[in-house]
Amino acid sequence: MAGAPSAVVVGAGIVGLSAARALLAEGYRVDVLEQGPVPNAHGSSVDSSRLIRHTYGTQHGYAALVDDAFAAWDRLWDDLGRSYYTQTGTLVLSRPGATWAQDSAATLDRLAKPYRVLSPDEAARRFPLLNLEGVERVYWVEGGGVLAAEPIVDDLARRLRAQGAAITAHTAVTQLDPEAGRVRLEDGTRRTADLLLVAAGPWTGRLWPDLARQLTPSRQLVCYVDTPDDLYAAWRRMPMVLDIADAESRSEGSAYAVPPIGGAPLKLGDHAFSLTGDPDTDRSPAEAELDRLFETTCRQLATPARYRLLSGRTCFYTVAPDSRFLHRRAGRAHALAGFSGHGFKFGPLIGERFAELAAGRLEEGTFQAWLAGNG
Ligand SMILES: Cc1cc2nc3c(=O)[nH]c(=O)nc-3n(C[C@H](O)[C@H](O)[C@H](O)COP(=O)(O)OP(=O)(O)OC[C@H]3O[C@@H](n4cnc5c(N)ncnc54)[C@H](O)[C@@H]3O)c2cc1C
Repeated sequence: MAGAPSAVVVGAGIVGLSAARALLAEGYRVDVLEQGPVPNAHGSSVDSSRLIRHTYGTQHGYAALVDDAFAAWDRLWDDLGRSYYTQTGTLVLSRPGATWAQDSAATLDRLAKPYRVLSPDEAARRFPLLNLEGVERVYWVEGGGVLAAEPIVDDLARRLRAQGAAITAHTAVTQLDPEAGRVRLEDGTRRTADLLLVAAGPWTGRLWPDLARQLTPSRQLVCYVDTPDDLYAAWRRMPMVLDIADAESRSEGSAYAVPPIGGAPLKLGDHAFSLTGDPDTDRSPAEAELDRLFETTCRQLATPARYRLLSGRTCFYTVAPDSRFLHRRAGRAHALAGFSGHGFKFGPLIGERFAELAAGRLEEGTFQAWLAGNG
């Protein structure tokens, strides 16, 4: 490999690993440095599931990329020799005064993606596990489903190692010298490369101060729930449920449910951005806040008293203005950041397009506009 260009990637989440895969395919020698274990349960990419769907509120730019994202996942499944995707379908609840569901339907219209509008009565008959009180209308989309996030990160890292990438766990980068293409590690040693990529999720601002002003780590809570035995089979056939209030998800009452897939329990989450928290310290949910989340999200269920809280966890969104993804370049260094609450589904696609940029086949402004959902 003498003479091959070299890349150091900071962060082994879905974005860093996907970029590493695409850079390898471009002929780079790739060195991935991860501050924690690989997979790192404190990273945003590591959890039982992440959702992929075309319903996207007013963000038509990102909705329009979802078909390309699916195609990129298919290329990854080919590499891995198996798929980690389960199609569940997408159910979007529309409540009075909330705009996200109608905006999503308008976006589906623009993309000519089929969906059905169900009356609350019809939806209640078809989805008896849900409490649809106060719901005006329900949108049913056949497409969309669940990506098994942690197994994907785990298998992708294994595959990259087999392809010759170095992935080093428990190695934090403490400093970046973009002009020299150099990073400094916790133990004081340095690595130099032709290309540096910072894909450090909610920690990005620490290495790239200019981005710190644009990015807000946002501590989010999810809980895992035991479903009653007699309802388990029905839950396994359920679609994901999105009960999102508004485009910015800043208001109370933006919840979602992920059916139990691949051995993972039913997952209930709150999509409203907290816009607070420190990804190093605020990790264990307090019992009271978990109970509160369980109680609130269980209101979506027809018989909440029959469900039991198993556990909960915190995870960080890295919220950028308008939830638009960001690219920055300085010298030999790049940063990919601001994946907010919706970046996982685009990981492999972003990796591929970033490698095109690195190879000089894509102009920087075009890449940045595309990444921001304006392509
Ligand atoms: C609760 C929750 C639900 C979500 N749901 C969805 C969803 O349904 N669909 C969807 O598409 N997206 C979803 N997202 C968003 C998605 O998970 C993220 O946008 C995506 O995983 C971000 O990936 P990343 O690689 O940028 O960051 P991360 O996965 O956080 O990876 C960054 C890595 O960099 C490492 N690192 C940081 N600093 C350093 C350093 N100095 N040195 C070495 N390593 C370092 C970290 O340890 C980490 O492993 C959700 C996020 C959360 C939290």
